[in-house]
Amino acid sequence: MNYNKKTVKDVDVKGKKVLLRCDFNVPQDKATGAITDDKRIRAALPTIQYLLDQGAAVIACSHLGKPNATFESYVKKQAEKGKDPASLTEEEWKKSLKKLSLAPVAKRLGELLGREVIMAADVVGPDATAKAAALKPGEILLLENTRFEKGETKNDPELAKKMASMAQVYVSDAFGAVHRAHASTAGVADYLPAVSGFLIQKELEIIGGALANPKRPLVAILGGSKVSSKIGVINNLLEIADTIIIGGGMTYTFLKAQGGSVGKSLLEADWLDYCNEMMKKAADKGVKLLLPEDTVCAKEFSADAEPITVDSMNIPDDCMGMDIGPKAIAAYSEAVKDAGTIIWNGPMGVFEFPAFAKGTEAVAKALSGTAAITIIGGGDSAAAVQQLGYADKMTHISTGGGASLEFMEGKELPGVACLLDR
Ligand code: ADP
Ligand code: MG
Repeated sequence: MNYNKKTVKDVDVKGKKVLLRCDFNVPQDKATGAITDDKRIRAALPTIQYLLDQGAAVIACSHLGKPNATFESYVKKQAEKGKDPASLTEEEWKKSLKKLSLAPVAKRLGELLGREVIMAADVVGPDATAKAAALKPGEILLLENTRFEKGETKNDPELAKKMASMAQVYVSDAFGAVHRAHASTAGVADYLPAVSGFLIQKELEIIGGALANPKRPLVAILGGSKVSSKIGVINNLLEIADTIIIGGGMTYTFLKAQGGSVGKSLLEADWLDYCNEMMKKAADKGVKLLLPEDTVCAKEFSADAEPITVDSMNIPDDCMGMDIGPKAIAAYSEAVKDAGTIIWNGPMGVFEFPAFAKGTEAVAKALSGTAAITIIGGGDSAAAVQQLGYADKMTHISTGGGASLEFMEGKELPGVACLLDR
């Protein structure tokens, strides 16, 4: 995939209407609907501010959550959850949609920008079309949740065309959604000149750069919960990394494949052969693949379980691995010391429990002490680094969870592929 894409700086937006796809998929309080973290809105500000300063009229759009775009799909979803379809009303469905309105985002965005953000009541309906037509340079309009349109997730060309017809330029800055070929993330680019905003530009430069032409040695640290969700990442990084470090829940499938006893640890028996294949591939390619020599385990999966350190190959039957041990921490810290680039995806242990966050914290600390380009991908990894207080010590924390994973898998990202090449 070509990562060298045109950006907002490569097009003239003065006096033009710009359709800007943002990632305003913010977390909300279930009861009150209040936005609990506005990080994603803040992340969009540089591109929005730039466009407004250039004299563009900005038509922003985003999805939020997973609304059911039709009453039929709502009924189907509720029935799957065990509700009686006959008891469901259109009113309830509309209420469920209202909860996923972008109106609170418009309000917060307005506060952050210090100017009015006009809110449309629909995506491509009469309200949005009229407000978009009347929008003046320097003004910003936010369309309603793109997933209120059933064509959005189907990448319906009719919907894409309608969205595109409101603007003259398309700017994508929703890195968190580029792995999806939806109408607002990819389809619209068929009808408008399409470029990236600053967020996507940075992701492409840093992650794309690390994948295509890394400053070596390249060390990849892979952890998280399951081997099965990381196969693509392991496989792709084995092609390009000099060292691969394994931690987290996927460790035990590797250890078991190597003949170890893993007790009650997370184990994916179907992936044992795969782990052996990966070990072999690493050996064939001369890639160092490191597994933790010791493991911190617990008798039950709980925050107050007593941490017990054991040899990784001999985890007692009544124990489960929760974190990497002190010897592994020392070895992993040593392995990253002279790296040129470090890509990290997946916590080293159950970092949500402080007693089992030591491995993840130690790795974060080790990264912060290197001169390497440090890249964090994956939603939980980003959260862990933030929670442990190392966020500002990293070169780049990707703003896309699933998108950054697919990026690291070497997959083509539809929301990037559709942008104009430089
Ligand atoms: P990311 O979102 O960064 O890609 P994952 O979703 O793959 O990361 O994994 C994150 C989760 O893995 C965390 O919730 C963490 O608690 C869990 N995890 C890490 N180590 C273990 C372990 N030893 N056993 C069970 N779960 C683990
Ligand atoms: Mg995750």
